[in-house]
Amino acid sequence: MMFPGKASHKINNGMPVGLYISVPFCRTKCSYCNFASDVFTKPAYEKYVQRLIDDVSGSRQLALELGCEFDDAADSIYLGGGTPSILDSTQLLRIFVALRQQFAVARDAEITVECAPGTITPALIATLLQCGVNRVSLGVQSFVDREAQSVGRLHKRETVLEEIRQLREAGLVNINIDLIAGLPHQTTGSWAYLVSETIATGVPHASVYMLEVDEDSRLGRELMAGGARYHAHFVPDEDRIADFYQLACEMLDAAGIGQYEISNFARSGAQSRHNLKYWTRQPYIGFGVDAHSMVFSERQGKHGRQALRFATPDSLDAYMTRVPPTVTEVSARAAIEESFFLGLRLNRGVDLERLRGEFGAEMIANWEPAIRECEDEQLLVRQGGNLRLTGRGRLLSNEVFARFLTEATEITTVGTGHGNPR
Ligand code: SF4
Repeated sequence: MMFPGKASHKINNGMPVGLYISVPFCRTKCSYCNFASDVFTKPAYEKYVQRLIDDVSGSRQLALELGCEFDDAADSIYLGGGTPSILDSTQLLRIFVALRQQFAVARDAEITVECAPGTITPALIATLLQCGVNRVSLGVQSFVDREAQSVGRLHKRETVLEEIRQLREAGLVNINIDLIAGLPHQTTGSWAYLVSETIATGVPHASVYMLEVDEDSRLGRELMAGGARYHAHFVPDEDRIADFYQLACEMLDAAGIGQYEISNFARSGAQSRHNLKYWTRQPYIGFGVDAHSMVFSERQGKHGRQALRFATPDSLDAYMTRVPPTVTEVSARAAIEESFFLGLRLNRGVDLERLRGEFGAEMIANWEPAIRECEDEQLLVRQGGNLRLTGRGRLLSNEVFARFLTEATEITTVGTGHGNPR
């Protein structure tokens, strides 16, 4: 333990929180990126880090103002963004000091930092170890240089392999590799090759995302307009992308890296503790731009504690000028909907008995027609009391989730390789 620990004041029924820190800076902007991140000069980093630290230090006060009940015991920390590895050693260390001053971080906490390949130096590795980091998530996206470069990634395959070797040598063996199915120039052959390269590295965790096409990214807008910029005309069609995803599921599973969530695969015991909090509705607190939190209020609702979600602004300017977070009270109905569409992301599915116990059998019966409809269409299956997506349901998951929404609840996901729901 590199920092003085802090005694835990247990106020949340023993549920430790996950802590998320958003770092919205990148060396270049990837063409497919739809995150609140961009390229800024170094002076902006310092102002931002100070603002982050102020927020972390003020978290207890914010909790009081919101009437929230969260344990200051934390058992996961995740630095995502953006590219947290772009910060200098002092900045990273100060963030961790601030977190450990406010939260009692468990000795065995999972502490992840997202790193862009090409930014990992011996000095960075030393800093990560000093901060207590024990998991690194690498935004590789592709081991085929042409594919990675076509979307603005700066690394080459050789760089990634060398950096994984260095991380391992330093004892950082818990490594995740992010991959994106659907990059320009991708073919079945190149996809099979990059999945096999991922397996060959021996990493215990991989995330596979399908390219998101929306108006929030340059590539997405170009694809929607039918243009050719950003290599858009070399993007495989939807059916092929779905085939790539299926192939990855099969190859990773055969290699002992089993799927446990729609986009996530791990060797036994290497599932991401932090991300599991999002899908199982455990409390988490996010700091920084576009950071989302879910905590429980002190108020007791009819079905247990009232959950609150709050989100910071998604623009750096708004965040820096201290525009307050938006706060949403989660009604019992919305909580059930969340339990379905978040829990169904997991391969183990949703425990219906537990849901009945929490919210009452009568309430849960309201979702029986949607469940039956999905079962009839072989999108969902009941197994041992759990409701799970079928293989077909996984490919059509957003369509399945939409059937569980009976009011204006937003579908919360964990975005492309960045560890906070959006
Ligand atoms: S995809 Fe990740 S690394 Fe690329 S610009 Fe977006 S946040 Fe930065």
